[in-house]
Amino acid sequence: MKVRERFAEMMARLVTLESAVYPSQSPPANEPAFTHIPGPLPILISAPHSTAHWRNGRLKKEEGFTAAISHYIALATGAHALYTHYQSEKDPNWHKAAPYKSALAHILNQQRIKFVLDLHGMSNRYKVGLVLGTINGRSCPQHEQSIIQTLQTHGFCQVSLAHARKLEQLQWQQFIVNHPRFTGGVTSHTVTRFVSQEVGIPAAQLELCTLLRVVPPHYQRYERLLGGVETVVSTLIALVQNLSGR
Ligand SMILES: [Zn+2]
Repeated sequence: MKVRERFAEMMARLVTLESAVYPSQSPPANEPAFTHIPGPLPILISAPHSTAHWRNGRLKKEEGFTAAISHYIALATGAHALYTHYQSEKDPNWHKAAPYKSALAHILNQQRIKFVLDLHGMSNRYKVGLVLGTINGRSCPQHEQSIIQTLQTHGFCQVSLAHARKLEQLQWQQFIVNHPRFTGGVTSHTVTRFVSQEVGIPAAQLELCTLLRVVPPHYQRYERLLGGVETVVSTLIALVQNLSGR
């Protein structure tokens, strides 16, 4: 398949997957606010903020396309995906106990999952494309270097916070490890902290800037800009394959 056709197919697929998510609707009666896509690979991609969620009495907006990307990667690799499908009464990345966390723990134990990648969306204002959070080296000490290496192999470049703060424009190919705002759970009850410390399975949090994940409705017009989405999806597919030892 030609590069252009492959690109168009990936974007169309992401738009279709995201259109099946209802960020501002409550789930139908007796249905959970999240969906599990099972797979044969013992890796799970989690997207707990793919829909709006309540935190501290405030409704926080969804992190767009994190459901579509996690679902896409699960289908492409055979990994599991767990993402919020409807608006959540609790924030699984902040409340200590949440139905999402209970379901996640059940899947992790039942499916013998070996690694959890918790996918999030940050705004472009941090000036870097990605932030990897490992609770300052504690959530996946055996995997951290190989995750960084996979990002680098795919053209991403690790920079310091001081460097990022001096950037005038977003540089989506650059990433930070353990940005103080996105450590993956030094101070809060994140999914990464829950999985690595309570369930005992290595995990990492990955924040994607808006440009690396949100596909506009008429994406053909933005083809040049969307190279970042394609790059990040290919990188995540390789990352899942590496984590599973394939
Ligand atoms: Zn988030």
